[in-house]
Amino acid sequence: MTSGCSRPRGVRTVIVYLWGTMSSPSSPQAPAVEPRSSLLDPDEAPPVTVARLLSLARPELPLLLAATVALLINSGISLAFPQAVRWMVDSITGASAPFDFDTAALVLIGLFAVAAVFGMARSWLYTLAGERVVARLRTDLYTAIIRQDVAFFDQTRTGELTNRLASDTAVLQNTVTVNISMALRFGVGAIGGIALLLVMSPTLTLVALSVVPVVTVGAALYGRVLRNLSKDVQDALARSTTVAEETIAGVRTVRSFAREEAEAERYGAAVHDSYRLAAKRALAVGVFQGVTGFAGYSAIALVVWYGGRMVTEGTMTVGDLTAFLLYTMMVAMSLGMLSGLYADFMKAIGASQRVFQLIDHRSPLERADGEVLDEVRGELVLDGVSFTYPSRPDVPVLSGVELLLAPGDVVALVGPSGSGKSTIASLVARLYDPDEGVITVDGVPLPQLAPRPWREHVGTVAQEPILFASSIADNIRYGRPDATDDEVRAAARAANAEGFVDDFPDGFDTLVGERGVRLSGGQKQRIAIARAVLKDPAVLILDEATSALDSESEHLVQEALDRLMEGRTTLVIAHRLSTVRDADRVVVLDRGRVQEQGTHDELLAADGLYRRLVERQFQAA
Ligand code: ADP
Repeated sequence: MTSGCSRPRGVRTVIVYLWGTMSSPSSPQAPAVEPRSSLLDPDEAPPVTVARLLSLARPELPLLLAATVALLINSGISLAFPQAVRWMVDSITGASAPFDFDTAALVLIGLFAVAAVFGMARSWLYTLAGERVVARLRTDLYTAIIRQDVAFFDQTRTGELTNRLASDTAVLQNTVTVNISMALRFGVGAIGGIALLLVMSPTLTLVALSVVPVVTVGAALYGRVLRNLSKDVQDALARSTTVAEETIAGVRTVRSFAREEAEAERYGAAVHDSYRLAAKRALAVGVFQGVTGFAGYSAIALVVWYGGRMVTEGTMTVGDLTAFLLYTMMVAMSLGMLSGLYADFMKAIGASQRVFQLIDHRSPLERADGEVLDEVRGELVLDGVSFTYPSRPDVPVLSGVELLLAPGDVVALVGPSGSGKSTIASLVARLYDPDEGVITVDGVPLPQLAPRPWREHVGTVAQEPILFASSIADNIRYGRPDATDDEVRAAARAANAEGFVDDFPDGFDTLVGERGVRLSGGQKQRIAIARAVLKDPAVLILDEATSALDSESEHLVQEALDRLMEGRTTLVIAHRLSTVRDADRVVVLDRGRVQEQGTHDELLAADGLYRRLVERQFQAA
């Protein structure tokens, strides 16, 4: 029975080896991050073909070919090494073997060494290809997202998009590289293993494979349960992420209402939901692993029992039986891994559907090409413009708006909040196209122009300017990245910003913080004005700050704006009496219609809506 002792030792070696393979980082057992539900209706997403999925990997073909060669060598050796074990066992038990015991041990070590080298190359190259695929996919997806029109962003949550960039792409990363490699590896393992088993003993093979139907049915059921549970876990996680995103971005509001604990509880409750579902999933995983483990070990027990009888009858050597056992284990493990890969592949198809849907989604407005105006005089005409936001199709926002701005005109838009002032500005910048009517610039309808070059002629200073978390100089340069330091400084001077910028220890290199939080309202305004000065647009859109700047800031901002407006066609969304008074014309909007037009004095004399607005709105301020 010495042979009986050496058998388990050989078996354990194999278990350690196989276990090492199974728990590699690319293992499909690792819970992949499943994408959240999508606002672009996934039901409308065109189905993704396997060919399209694989096309992601096409640029990595050389890398993948090299990796596959390594894989085949590695898998081939994995299939061969039980033979060496067999020779070792047979030489102990005195059965005929081509090598003696020691040589067979050396051969075994040698095989492991070669397998390790190719295993390393395989793992490295496939993972590298996967990283390259995901990096390219993320860039493509980001480019597709940032090129969508504004209406798209009105209807899509930021969290949704960042999630696609981060986790949908991560799911795909493994599918077209590592998972394919695993499918190949375990496919070779399963088919090669079964073929060798059949060669060694067809009868015993049937005994070993008797558990396969049980495992297959179990795997199918488990796959479905796991998919549903994973989706629920991810949806719950998405809900908690939305809470976190909102409250972290709005931390100042949370703080000022002292809602920290309430928000922590809200987040905690959302996280608890996902935990409960994840706990269920953990149980499902545990049960499945228990069942398959039992099935696998039962197969081994059956093989030992039936094979033991064959050894006793003399139709098989102990070495044969050992090798047979090793192959049985290899086949069992390969089949188990393949079922896991199948589930992952389904998940990836789902994720890629959403990614491709987004990449393929072209906004007609942004895609449009057209004329490019080199010189813009700045004559703007709105002729019968009606508009409804695509995200709120049942609320008409503008109806039949007529407006004429001669080059260099300053027109003040006034009207109650929600009357459509900002919408007119958005249409002029061509963030949207009107549903009816037309906007022309120097006689050319905007839809005839290529949108991006046109926007280069339009400067905007928003009520709450958005600065990016970089330096002051970078923020001023945003519309003209090639501007020299001197030009940036001159723009800052014109915007009354040079003084305060120079007072910062780092001057123009001062970092402004996320969305410019490290600057005051008046300072942000002046940086935004400097940005517009540098861009030197023919058409200017100003959205005056409603929040009261202190009178010193207000004076500096106003002075900078006056300088900026000089010689440009300007549309001001006016909140200050002084602006309205100085404007060439005042246009009074109410519920999307132009109610009155004229100079300040004319409109006051007319004693209409404007007069009431002036009395209520401006004088109160
Ligand atoms: P104002 O600038 O005069 O305050 P707006 O032009 O901002 O008015 O808004 C006019 C109307 O359009 C409002 O009823 C507002 O709720 C709606 N609105 C503004 N922006 C959007 C948007 N992105 N999507 C849907 N509706 C919008």
